[in-house]
Amino acid sequence: MELAQKLSILADAAKYDASCSSSGAKRTRPTDGFGNTTGMGICHSYTPDGRCVSLLKILFTNRCIFDCAYCVNRLSSNTPRASFTVAEVVRLTVGFYRRNTIEGLFLSSGIIKSADYTMEQLIEVARRLREEERFGGYIHLKAVAGASKEILARAAQVADRLSANIELPTQKDLDTLAPAKTIVETETTMDQLHNISQTEGPKKLMPAGQSTQMVVGATAASDASVLDTSNRLYTSHRLRRVYYTAYSPSSQPHAALPTKPVGLLREHRLYQADWLLRFYQFRVDEIVQPGQNLALDKDPKLAWALSNRAFFPVDLNRAPREALLRVPGLGTTNVQRVLSLRRQRTVTVDDLRHMRVSLKKTLVFLEIPGDRSAVRHLDIQSLEDRVKPRQLNLFATGQSALTGQV
Ligand code: SF4
Repeated sequence: MELAQKLSILADAAKYDASCSSSGAKRTRPTDGFGNTTGMGICHSYTPDGRCVSLLKILFTNRCIFDCAYCVNRLSSNTPRASFTVAEVVRLTVGFYRRNTIEGLFLSSGIIKSADYTMEQLIEVARRLREEERFGGYIHLKAVAGASKEILARAAQVADRLSANIELPTQKDLDTLAPAKTIVETETTMDQLHNISQTEGPKKLMPAGQSTQMVVGATAASDASVLDTSNRLYTSHRLRRVYYTAYSPSSQPHAALPTKPVGLLREHRLYQADWLLRFYQFRVDEIVQPGQNLALDKDPKLAWALSNRAFFPVDLNRAPREALLRVPGLGTTNVQRVLSLRRQRTVTVDDLRHMRVSLKKTLVFLEIPGDRSAVRHLDIQSLEDRVKPRQLNLFATGQSALTGQV
């Protein structure tokens, strides 16, 4: 098979792995235009210092000995198959890099013979890039759950990031759709990687840490269950990111799966809730009740505020950081700005305006001297009525998630 044909198959097969982020936006392109938000092959990811890098995103092979029902590359699927050689992936990566098309590589794979054998191939690609080609760019490798500790340690020497995919939130879900996999095995791999990353030495191992992905909506598992699992992964294994993928039937759908795709709004709300867990000191049970899904008609921080009205208004000039973080419309950066400014003087509505805080969304939850906070506090009573239960356009610019008005 020609290299270009392999590239077409294996870049397309890699697009389902969300543990390396890329845009989920779909846009109609004019016939005489160029640029595509849904194409495969090159995706964007973020380095620990916040830079956005373009990565060649491919599978080493889409042949797999497993038969996970939600995966287009499962053993029983009749999707076209292809495999690269180690030399081909090295050649492609160096070629694209030299043409200034990519800054790094995301390399995943179907399971070839065993977890160790598969990882050996991925590690050999990264080793040759690092040692023979002197490649200093970003490398993200798949960590196959169940690989030996020695193999994982070798992967951590050459990769910036490793990701073992948890795939589904509970063992019951895996038993239904991916019976060859266990949560325990994946979390053991994550645990081993975390321990390896803490090893003292001349260079930091896997400096961009670990990520994982979870498919949402392929089973009846609730958002509460998904977030419980994410929370455990963040706290027990120090994962940097959990990526959520709304289930979408492939061209080779499995009979056990839903026939319709899961709405992207559900995925979006999970990312918002995930943010609240990681940066806003919320607990899962504050965001969503056990067994329930997140509300789709409002973001989870606003939903919490509306059901905890007694918590508000929060005094902008006296409240602790944790309380300010709970105010809808106040992000972590602006909370930090408020805390710094109020060491010197009283913070006013004008200061919030200069920080580009959405006053329409925020003021009703705040007590600010000289401001009619009591009147605004009454407005909270009517706020819920103003939130229209309808699906928002995630990609419209300048649209308020609170009111639906521009
Ligand atoms: S192990 Fe990975 S590649 Fe293989 S069928 Fe399961 S999800 Fe797909």
